[in-house]
Amino acid sequence: MGDRVRAAEEKTEEKPAAPVIVRPQPATGNRATADLLSGPNADPARRADVADLGAPAGNRAVTQLLTAAPPDPAIDWIESLPAEIKQQIDNFTAKQEKAADTGNEKLADARTRNRHTFMATMRWAMGDDDALIQQHFQAIAPIDVGDGEQLWAHSSTRERLAAVKAELEAQGIPMPQTTVGLGMRGDHLNRGNKGRTWFTHAVGFAVDWRAYQTPRITDDKLITLFDMVTGGRPDMKTSVEGDTRIDLEIKMGQGKADPAAAKKLLDSVDAEYTRLTQASETFKTDLPKETLDRLGEVEQARFAVGTARKALAKLKARKKPTAATTEEIEAGQKAITDAQEHYDKLVAAIVPDLPKLFEPWTKKIDERIAVIDREFAGADVDEELLTSDYGLKDREAKARQVRKDEAALAKAKIKDEAKLAQLHQRAQELEEDVAKRRKYRADTTTALGAKKTQALIDEKFRLITLRGLKEGLITNANGFVFRTKLATDDPAIDQLLGLMPENRGGFFTPDVAGGEAQAKAGQFSGAHGYGLTFIKSMVSHGFEAGMAWRGGSDPMHFELAEGRKFLKTAGASPLGS
Ligand SMILES: [Zn+2]
Repeated sequence: MGDRVRAAEEKTEEKPAAPVIVRPQPATGNRATADLLSGPNADPARRADVADLGAPAGNRAVTQLLTAAPPDPAIDWIESLPAEIKQQIDNFTAKQEKAADTGNEKLADARTRNRHTFMATMRWAMGDDDALIQQHFQAIAPIDVGDGEQLWAHSSTRERLAAVKAELEAQGIPMPQTTVGLGMRGDHLNRGNKGRTWFTHAVGFAVDWRAYQTPRITDDKLITLFDMVTGGRPDMKTSVEGDTRIDLEIKMGQGKADPAAAKKLLDSVDAEYTRLTQASETFKTDLPKETLDRLGEVEQARFAVGTARKALAKLKARKKPTAATTEEIEAGQKAITDAQEHYDKLVAAIVPDLPKLFEPWTKKIDERIAVIDREFAGADVDEELLTSDYGLKDREAKARQVRKDEAALAKAKIKDEAKLAQLHQRAQELEEDVAKRRKYRADTTTALGAKKTQALIDEKFRLITLRGLKEGLITNANGFVFRTKLATDDPAIDQLLGLMPENRGGFFTPDVAGGEAQAKAGQFSGAHGYGLTFIKSMVSHGFEAGMAWRGGSDPMHFELAEGRKFLKTAGASPLGS
């Protein structure tokens, strides 16, 4: 779930009349949720994890968890890895690396510690075979993607990418360029409750393409809006899902899949690709021209501020034929001030007009809200009072905290009696409220049955999302409509409408066709190649597409299905087609 949804929920909680719900994570399909199922955090947690692991991982992984911790691993081989990988393992900059090499003991110690933590994480992720871990990281190398850029990935992944590239080039399509592959991002040093499959980028199985034109969408408000405007979800629904799809993709990559099942999967990718690209266009043009013009004007003004800033920086850096004069620099500074003033003025003018500008959408939202309201009225249920398990737990935790504060204050040497009485009163109110909600929930369940009650609670979640969506549109809360820059995660409406001058925007915007010459020359392309043929070829060669993750789609992301399973089973399902 997007942080902004949570923030909105927490905000509504402060208003006494508003519903109080803490939403559960989506049950399936979401990468983060799936990941939560695997990772033990520390030794005491390991035994509890055995139950989860037993089935998918087989005996080897189970044995690993139950035997005593192996001795400290050798880490000297890490020193001979390429700088790109070493710096990621050490979580160091090149400068820090050099300082550690030339006598900075503190950094040298930190590096040793980080390498041990890295090994501990990798033993957890791949199994306790240190030689295999060493081999794995020695098999990570760069692909030259042109323009002096590199894409780092494991040999398993590089081989398949090469096959995809050849297949595309045979059809006159260039391989889309990217440099986003191997990326530990420090997660191996602090894995928290991340699961093993979180680490596909960290071990060189995953690659991202075109993040700004295919952003990650996890915010329920955006998913709801996309559905309302286009009639479908922003993620791909494929013929098979979850582990069934992973297993099929593994076989496809190895050339061993049942042709009918493979065709069915690729056909569903085809159909969904068409739906998503068309829906993304529909979304961009759904609002009236006046709305799009007004929002576009704001985006142009924002962009002009950046342009003026860049011009001044260029001016200041100028040496030839002569350095910039004081007058020129002052004029450059004034251009920035003017551009900023113009932008601020447009923003101030548009915010009060947002309710009118988004009326075609808020009308639809209101209709959906009215349907849910009628459902509650028809069942004679108080929507505010009906509370989910999460909502109850959350309120109980709050009551407990106030009781704790009260007890702490009561023990203090100098007691603030007024404050103590206030806390006592507050705790009592919270406890009474929870009791009232518990009773209401129980009474509703008795009257309507558990199934209907749960259905109403689900409807209440939808209601909160709809209200948050409306609020975002008409107030620009948390930069919902416009902000200062492009985003790769849950972007602003302006980006999704394609109004930001930096790119074409949209929910899902493939490259424009072209690039035959690059394909012929075997070059990667920054502008062409990301499209249906590419995505289908990736799936055919055993890549899992993040765009098919339900409930939190990640369209920029592809990962080798075999690699995902290798991690998921802690090394029990080996690589090696
Ligand atoms: Zn990714």
